[in-house]
Amino acid sequence: MNIRKLTSLIIATLFLSNAFAQSTETDATPKADSLPEDAIVIHRVPLESGPEIETDVLVVDTIPSSSEGLAIVLYNDNTWRYIRNRSISALDETVFTKNWNNEVLNPYNINANDLPASMIIDLVDSLKSYHYPYKGRVTSKFGYRRRRAHQGTDIGLQIGDPIYATFDGRVRVVQHSNKGYGNLIILRHDNGLETYYAHLSEVLVEPNQWVTAGQVIGKGGNTGRSTGPHLHFEMRYNGLSFDSERLIDFATGTLRRETFLLKRTYFNASSRFTQDFDVEVQSDEEDKKIAAEAAARKYHTVRKGDTLGKIAINNGTTVKKLCQLNGIKESSILSLGQKIRVR
Ligand SMILES: [Zn+2]
Repeated sequence: MNIRKLTSLIIATLFLSNAFAQSTETDATPKADSLPEDAIVIHRVPLESGPEIETDVLVVDTIPSSSEGLAIVLYNDNTWRYIRNRSISALDETVFTKNWNNEVLNPYNINANDLPASMIIDLVDSLKSYHYPYKGRVTSKFGYRRRRAHQGTDIGLQIGDPIYATFDGRVRVVQHSNKGYGNLIILRHDNGLETYYAHLSEVLVEPNQWVTAGQVIGKGGNTGRSTGPHLHFEMRYNGLSFDSERLIDFATGTLRRETFLLKRTYFNASSRFTQDFDVEVQSDEEDKKIAAEAAARKYHTVRKGDTLGKIAINNGTTVKKLCQLNGIKESSILSLGQKIRVR
């Protein structure tokens, strides 16, 4: 092995030790005769939904990308994946600190009426991270069921089937219970969404652990208030649930869209994907306009020593304009990692 290869493997080790600490521990040990001693073996996460890939692959190189928080990792089967360096994350870092609580299921305490009329959610950014939580037939939809609001989507399964993390993120809650949700995992993702996985027979993750899309986080089951083995899956934003079928086609496992215009009206329990599909198509033009406006926005992540004045000068704007854009006062105290809209 030449020096360059060796160096890149060391870099890959350093880079991956954080993100994959858990997955390397839980993955089966590879056959020793087929791999070099210093090989880093990680369980491959498919880039798109598709047939499960059970083979372990070898990291052969790590290449820096244009963003310092990201690197590209090459595998020995000619596939590649973006890997996020959590210590220099390019995204809003407050996602994993603000309203972070390992006990309370909904720590946000936010009313839907206080949110904007629509919000842009980046589901699969350049990281290309998505995996279906479980692929199968929907047995009960989001919405009213015998006059009671069903906050999630039920998918029938066999006890013990693997349940996957939908996007990259971090485990916020692990709750062991034989009531209600049964054994429950709540993940929070970089895009700000939370996903709930309920009635599990086994939980394979711990609170505060980082997870990668496609990582097996638990096994399907029938715990809690459940009348048969199924996954109760919820998608929430700011603690408010909406129909996950808007995003995921559970029958095929595919993600319906890469950017999602989450409308405030979706938080209404009677707002179901299939019900207003035609309306959605009609308002597509309007959505595109809003998305284009959102794309023109520019944000600055607050670093040590930043002041509103400094941020204004560096971005050719004024303190007054910054306050208007962010709904803050000139006297507001900035916190590290806070995202400030500058345009
Ligand atoms: Zn359910």
